[in-house]
Amino acid sequence: MSSPADALLPLLKSTFGFDHFRGRQAEVVDRVMAGERTLAVMPTGAGKSLTYQLPAVALDGCVVVVSPLIALMHDQLRGARAAGIRAASLTSVDADFADTRQAYRDGQLDLLYIAPERATGEGFRSLMDARAPALFAIDEAHCVSEWGHDFRPDYRLLRPLLDAFPDVPRLALTATADKHTREDILVQLGIPAEGLVLAGFDRPNIRYRVMPRVSPAKQLTEFIAANPGPGIVYCPTRDGTERMAERLAAATGRGVAAYHAGLDPERRARVQHDFVASEDGIVTATVAFGMGIDKPDVRFVAHAGLPKSIESYYQETGRAGRDGDPAEALMLWAADDFARARSRLSELPEARVAGERARLNALAALVETVECRRALLLRHFGENPPARCGNCDTCLDPPKQVDATVLAQKLMSAVYRTGQSFGAGHVEAVLTGRSDERVVSRGHDKLSVFGIVEGEDARLIKPLVRTLVAREALQATEHGGLMFGPACRAVMKGDAPVLIAEPPVKRTQRASRSDRAAANPVGDPLFDALRGVRRELAAEAGVPPYVIFHDAVLRAMASERPATRSDLAAIPGVGAKKLEAWGDAFLNVIRRF
Ligand code: ADP
Ligand code: ZN
Repeated sequence: MSSPADALLPLLKSTFGFDHFRGRQAEVVDRVMAGERTLAVMPTGAGKSLTYQLPAVALDGCVVVVSPLIALMHDQLRGARAAGIRAASLTSVDADFADTRQAYRDGQLDLLYIAPERATGEGFRSLMDARAPALFAIDEAHCVSEWGHDFRPDYRLLRPLLDAFPDVPRLALTATADKHTREDILVQLGIPAEGLVLAGFDRPNIRYRVMPRVSPAKQLTEFIAANPGPGIVYCPTRDGTERMAERLAAATGRGVAAYHAGLDPERRARVQHDFVASEDGIVTATVAFGMGIDKPDVRFVAHAGLPKSIESYYQETGRAGRDGDPAEALMLWAADDFARARSRLSELPEARVAGERARLNALAALVETVECRRALLLRHFGENPPARCGNCDTCLDPPKQVDATVLAQKLMSAVYRTGQSFGAGHVEAVLTGRSDERVVSRGHDKLSVFGIVEGEDARLIKPLVRTLVAREALQATEHGGLMFGPACRAVMKGDAPVLIAEPPVKRTQRASRSDRAAANPVGDPLFDALRGVRRELAAEAGVPPYVIFHDAVLRAMASERPATRSDLAAIPGVGAKKLEAWGDAFLNVIRRF
């Protein structure tokens, strides 16, 4: 049976160079082409924009896209134009306002981007009255809901415009909407419940790793050395971003720039622009970085400290690998991160404490688990994933689990008997029977807990402290010592088994290259030459390199070595417009090899 989307396959190939729809794109396109109202919830990188850009080419008339961020709009605009789509935007920074309006009236546009505050104005309404659009696409649709994490009142005012054109289909799109938010979007935008197309949250090309933070600059340097592409390192503080940028630049020899809200806007814009244009740039940033960045070839996202919540972790790591190529997410955490976050709970209004505590507990479960990280993340979002993913640290290199329930009781009791004021190092000295000066001078060598931990178990004390702090069985005192936390009883009584990952004997030398996610061929001269010509063409056209072709396309060129235009057109990602504009430049390079 042929669906409307199937009928568009030739157009999909000629415009975007793709042979198939991906995931649930076809369903969404089917609904759009049938004139129905739809809410598409798909993870970042799933290819949401194609579900209105392809109809924009196929349908008579213009698709109007409401989008909240000018930076995002302009990025999309460049991509659409490179594919030969007649696209324009109406924003405060566009000088060609009158021309764009005229082109719309004359039916000369396929795609028109507009910000919500302008879309709800009278000027825009009269433009729509002059010529009805073919589709209203509402991007980042969670902004319409107060339940969403990014409510924007302007989105609420879109409804009268939509309702004024009851026969024009609507397509709402978002990557982040829980059940509550989804239902609200449907109601707010007048979309029937059966119009929901919900794709899974999984980002299979992202490899998750979570490790204790021992020496962050060194750990990150190793990580970066194995990841030659562009990446983001999230740091908890503004100062931290600057210090980390310096250290990583010195240690890796790569371009590293800091980004945070304290920099002047010009500097921020430059850092962002350079990053988007680069093929190997690194940005050390606070969470302020990333919002408006639609860079598909980010190869890694690292967290130098604990993220705020699983939701923000997922959103931040989700900026990696939007192009579908292998990408890595590394989180470094320490017991201190939890201690600090927990101590801040007391400053919160009563009503928020329980929610924030639940967020921290969910993060504690993520860092502690010896099971699949991805499975844990997906379950958090209400999915029912397979037990093992094969592409996270615990799946690739399963840690042995040890039962530390009894050891935890010994540790708790040492904390108690030393007066709940000493740090992990001192408690460890007491437990392992090290009679150093501090221990002896305080008489702690006389305690019943002195020297009760022997041999192999001693190695478990540090990781166990991390786990107990993460779980809130222990917490930090004002002076950095350890004291009992709210969850101490269950551990003391042995009611809650404490299973921890056995610390690696020596595993700082991470997996070898061959075991790593296969990314770009390192040292392939043809691939490098193709990148070189891409850089030149990008500079000429004033666009980032990925707008010309993604890495995956260059890789396919390097391995298949197309000799003619029609060979080249067969490579996924090479559409007619790009073939025409740039095909010969790449073919010439291939011929030289
Ligand atoms: P989203 O907006 O959902 O985050 P994008 O629309 O930016 O995702 O698309 C992500 C990437 O997927 C883009 O690089 C795009 O070219 C690619 N893509 C989209 N649809 C397909 C497809 N059917 N086949 C191959 N690649 C696709
Ligand atoms: Zn896994």
